[in-house]
Amino acid sequence: MEPRYRRILLKLSGEVLAGQKGYGIDPQVVENLARQIQEVTQLGVQVGVVVGGGNIWRGQVGSQQGMDRATADYMGMLATVINALALQDALEKLGVETRVQTAVEMRQVAEPFIRRRAIRHLEKGRVVIFGAGIGSPYFTTDTTAALRAAEIEAEIMFKGTSADGVYDDDPRQNPEARRFSHITYLDVLQQGLKVLDSTAVSLCMENKIPILVFQLLEPGNIRRAVMGEPIGTLITVD
Ligand code: UDP
Repeated sequence: MEPRYRRILLKLSGEVLAGQKGYGIDPQVVENLARQIQEVTQLGVQVGVVVGGGNIWRGQVGSQQGMDRATADYMGMLATVINALALQDALEKLGVETRVQTAVEMRQVAEPFIRRRAIRHLEKGRVVIFGAGIGSPYFTTDTTAALRAAEIEAEIMFKGTSADGVYDDDPRQNPEARRFSHITYLDVLQQGLKVLDSTAVSLCMENKIPILVFQLLEPGNIRRAVMGEPIGTLITVD
């Protein structure tokens, strides 16, 4: 069977990378993700990855503690680069070719983000990991993922989470909570479902980029998602 998608944008939150520890980087989690990504590149799927940084630092937390918001956000962007390098390392250990591109220049560490070059890497089968968000404070890496998905013309954005999709209530607190297999962008926005930030959802809606929300750490799930198997929650126009 052929994969349903040829080019995907995968959003990895920092929270996922921290694993059970809740902070920092769990090497086993990073390896699990690297293996899953390798599996889909072997199917010929082109993979762009946007990494978050919440496992290390969140700008909002710093600003609540009295820091200048923009400075705190730049710290968050730097945190995403740490995660990007960890993922790059794990992928390269498996023999997967990668490039890290950052939205804040740091040429000793990574390439600067250049859209056309990113697309060229993808065409050559390299996994492109986007670090430092969009390079501006007051944004999130969810929004970065939506933006990069549009820029690299990804067919879909994968949002990997710890839950297995979008629910009508918090499944950890309410055993009656139901998972949606499919939901519209407008429903996500109007019901205030906290799965992605609203800027990211709006951007995907405007650019007609479907979003698949699914449990990331279940081995094989990225492949299942790429093959179009019915996992998680698909967010589309209708
Ligand atoms: N950030 C930012 N601009 C961006 C992307 C990220 O300022 O374009 C900062 C922001 O402070 C954020 C932090 O980087 O809190 C980490 O990103 P995010 O919270 O999106 O990570 P995740 O929740 O996915 O781990």
